Amino acid sequence: MDLEFDRQHLWHPYTSMTNPLPVLGVTSASGCRLRLDDGRELIDGTSSWWSAIHGYSHQALVAAVQKQAAQLSHVMFGGLTHEAAIDLGKALLKLTPAGLSRVFFADSGSVAVEVAIKMAIQYWQGRGKAGKHKLLTVLGGYHGDTFAAMSVCDPNAGMHGMFGHLVAKQLFASAPRAGFDRPFCDDDIRELKTLLEREHDSIAAVIIEPILQGAGGLRFYSPDYLRALRALCDQYQVLLIADEIATGFGRTGKAFACEHAGITPDLLCLGKALTGGMLSLAATLCSDEVAAGIGDSPAGVFMHGPTFMANPLACAAASASLELFAKGDWQAQVSRIEAELKRGLDDASALPQVVDVRVLGAVGVIEMAGSIDTAFAMHAFAARGVWVRPFGRLIYVMPPYCISSAELAALTRAMVEVAALDGILKAEVTPS
Ligand code: PMP
Repeated sequence: MDLEFDRQHLWHPYTSMTNPLPVLGVTSASGCRLRLDDGRELIDGTSSWWSAIHGYSHQALVAAVQKQAAQLSHVMFGGLTHEAAIDLGKALLKLTPAGLSRVFFADSGSVAVEVAIKMAIQYWQGRGKAGKHKLLTVLGGYHGDTFAAMSVCDPNAGMHGMFGHLVAKQLFASAPRAGFDRPFCDDDIRELKTLLEREHDSIAAVIIEPILQGAGGLRFYSPDYLRALRALCDQYQVLLIADEIATGFGRTGKAFACEHAGITPDLLCLGKALTGGMLSLAATLCSDEVAAGIGDSPAGVFMHGPTFMANPLACAAASASLELFAKGDWQAQVSRIEAELKRGLDDASALPQVVDVRVLGAVGVIEMAGSIDTAFAMHAFAARGVWVRPFGRLIYVMPPYCISSAELAALTRAMVEVAALDGILKAEVTPS
C-alpha cells in the first residue's frame, strides 16, 4: 500500500498535513478484525467510531447493498421516491420512541444536527415566535463539525475555538453531573432551569446527547436529569433535540439512550450505526407538531435537500442493519460486553496515572490523569494486536456487539497494560 502517498496527500480526521500522525493501512475487515497490509490482524475496539455495531462485512449487509446496487444505486429524492427509503422509514418509526413520525434523511451526523437546528428555528417561525431562535445546551457536549453543530459544541473544549467568533452565540449550562447511577437532585439542573426561565422567549430548543456525552469527554449521567430536562422543556415551551448519533442502536444498553429516562424528544438525530457502519447515512426525526409548525411557517417548506438524500444503497444497508438489530440478540450481547468490560478494566482503577474507570453498555472508558500521547498509545495498542484510538485524557472502547469474550479480554488486557506504561502521558503532564 502506498502509505507515503497517503502521508503526503490525504488528509485524515483532526490532523495536520504538515505534521501528519502515522496511519496503518487496512486491506480488509470482517467480524471485529481489521487486517493490515503488513499481514497483521487487529481486534477492533472502536466499531469505526460507534458505527459498525454488527462487525465488518456482515453477510446480510453486504447482500443487501449488492442487491440494491444491481437494481437502483441512486436517484434524486426530489420528486422521486423508492422502496429502499420507504422500507427504512417504516422500520425507523417502528423502532424509535413513540411520537416521532416524520423522517428527514441526510448523509452525515453533523448534517442531521444542522437539519434539527434549522427545523426547530423554523417551527417557531410557524408558530408566530420568530424570536425563538437560540439554542440552549450543556458544556461537555459535542454535536459535529459544521457551523451550526459547532455552535452547540463545548466552546471551552478547544476543538473549534478558531471559529469561535464566527459561529452563532448560543446558551450553555454546566454539564450534567457525571455518573449514570448518581442520585439526582433539583440542584443538578438548576442552572439550566434558570436559563430557561430567563431566556425561553429567545430559545428554540435544547440540544443534548442523552445519557452519554461522547466526544466531549465520554461521561455518563443520570436518566433523572434527562427526565427533568424533558419536563422543563415542556414547562417553558422549548423543543428538545436528542442527539443520539453516537448512542443510538443499543450502545448504552437500550435501543436509544432516551429510553433510560422513558422520554421522547421533539427531534431525534441518528447516524453512525444507522447503516451498521456500512455507508454514510443519517436521519433527523420529528413529531407531527414540529412538521406542522414548519408547514405553517412563512416559507412553508423546509429548505434543505442534500443531493444524496435517502441514497438507496445506504437505505438498503440501514434496513438490513435494523432488521438484524430488531430480531438479533443485541441486548444479551451488550449486557455481556458491559459485564466483561467492568471485569476487564477493573485493574486499571488502581493505577497511579488513572483517575477514573467507567462502563455503561458497550462503552468502556479509562480516564487518565493527563493528556495521552496518541501516537505512542496507538503504536502500543497495535503491538498488542488491538485497535484503540485514545483522545485527550481518554482511552475508550465501543467494540462491535459481535466481539467474543476472548477478543474482549484481549482488548481490556491491552487497555490496562497501555494505561500502565511509562510514556503514555505527554511529557509536560505530571501524573497524580
Ligand atoms: N453528534 C454526535 C453525538 C457525534 O458523536 C458525532 C460524531 N462524532 C456527530 C454528531 C457528527 O457526526 P458525523 O461525524 O457523522 O458528522
